[in-house]
Amino acid sequence: MSVAVVCTTLLIEKSPQALPLGAACIASAVKNCPNLKDKINVNLKAFSLEDDDFKKLKSKEEMAKYIADKLYQPCEKLIVCFSCFVWNVEILRQAAAFLKTKGAVTIAGGPEITAHPSFYKDFDYTVSGEGEVSVPELISKILNTSEKSDKVIISQLPELSILHSPYLDGIIDPSEYEGALWELARGCPFKCAYCYESKGAKTVRLFPMERIKAELDLFARKKIPQVFVLDPTYNVNKNRAVELLRLIRQKTPNTFYYFEARAEFIDRELAREFTKIPCALQIGLQSANEEVLKLVNRPWDKKKFLKGISILNEEGVTFGLDLIFGLPGESFGSFRDGMDFALSLYPNNLEVFCLSVLPGTDLFDRAEGLGLEWEKDPPYHVIKNKQFSIEDMKKAEKLAKACSVFYNDGRAVPWFNSVCRVLKMKGSKLLELFYDKKLTMAGNTDCCCEHTQIEKLQLEFLRVIFTERKIERYFKAAEDIIKFYGAISRTTATGKSEIVQLNYNAEYVASDYASDIRWFTENLKPQKSKIQTFMNQGSADFKFIK
Ligand code: SF4
Repeated sequence: MSVAVVCTTLLIEKSPQALPLGAACIASAVKNCPNLKDKINVNLKAFSLEDDDFKKLKSKEEMAKYIADKLYQPCEKLIVCFSCFVWNVEILRQAAAFLKTKGAVTIAGGPEITAHPSFYKDFDYTVSGEGEVSVPELISKILNTSEKSDKVIISQLPELSILHSPYLDGIIDPSEYEGALWELARGCPFKCAYCYESKGAKTVRLFPMERIKAELDLFARKKIPQVFVLDPTYNVNKNRAVELLRLIRQKTPNTFYYFEARAEFIDRELAREFTKIPCALQIGLQSANEEVLKLVNRPWDKKKFLKGISILNEEGVTFGLDLIFGLPGESFGSFRDGMDFALSLYPNNLEVFCLSVLPGTDLFDRAEGLGLEWEKDPPYHVIKNKQFSIEDMKKAEKLAKACSVFYNDGRAVPWFNSVCRVLKMKGSKLLELFYDKKLTMAGNTDCCCEHTQIEKLQLEFLRVIFTERKIERYFKAAEDIIKFYGAISRTTATGKSEIVQLNYNAEYVASDYASDIRWFTENLKPQKSKIQTFMNQGSADFKFIK
């Protein structure tokens, strides 16, 4: 009998971060299952909302039909395994319904199915949890007509040492995605109420070092430029974190790594190891209100957090922070305070998200009692809470957008706090004004433009604000700092040289003097200078030109 198994998903974008790892892990497990090995043909087929063909489709139904047509293949038995997330489940559900009319057997798994496995009736089978053992077993039963299987399967946690790596067995080629998602561990020792891990076993299972080393060798051979490490708290076990950083440095010294880390567990030795490889850390702050964090089972030691962050800043480790709005117990005021707190710590980027009340989490069970109102369909965003009105949610969304454009995409970290200080304005206020004065204008709201265009918006906006505050005399210094660091960051990103005209001597602009714009303006004389940026031994530098 000719049997085809297709593992599929719909990705939100085309990027290394959106690589279809879950579907690839299932394909790898099915391919290597001894009972199935010579009987089936396994394929991985992922779609992306950013595919050109997809962009032409107008409705979810059209998208589902498109996926079903692409997946269908004439064979005696077609089994399609869907990897479902909040953002794609509606479309995949409809695609499964189309495929069933053509005789295919459909299986669904992934975080959205794990949350409520009995809910989605369009699939023949649903698998909750990690499917690498359950899905091959289920397929064996489907093929062996004498055996019956339950429609809803709750997986046991697989032993990680027996799982095959989809990278090593050729199911997925990270070169096609210009990067890799790299699983080092599963599980988390914490239980934040809004996270799928909130009801997990609270244990961390580690992938064996042998597999990790082999995957690193593969990344080195394929010259993979960037790797996103999947381990929600990379540095909980410091010794292992240090050991892996040394291994990464030895095997892939030119690959850029992204880690998720806890600031509370950063010490000097670990921070120094991070500085030895090209990398960035993303740290979940979520709220700076201890009472709010307690309500979502995320106790916070502010002192240790600040110590970890100051070590990262002192050692020059690039890090970003995450913040959530709409948490129970949070008001718009305390959220805004959290944003100002986060911005004051000089994160390279600040990601601001709306809280989702995900089915299957501890928060979902307690949400009504905590006074949350939320969307009943994916992505389950909070609509309001007791203290956070619908209007407040809209204001928080605006701040999130302004932060994304002005601070993150605008690469404002080297000068943002200096500009706020001279304006005597909180960071959140500056972002709010930027939204109102710039992002509401036609064409700017969905600003995802080039950095040079954002820099132009930043400078136009700040010139007006400095004038309104009657401190125009300080603008020239601010303008220099923004232009200087903007050019340096673009040269770092692209390797391309740029020429910049400045009002002050560039040596001063690049120095610590520039962190106090008031002092800088009052003590240094303007002196026109022209500089050229260039790459020098892996980092951007500048020289004076005539
Ligand atoms: S949010 Fe992060 S730290 Fe908290 S339980 Fe989930 S994975 Fe763990």
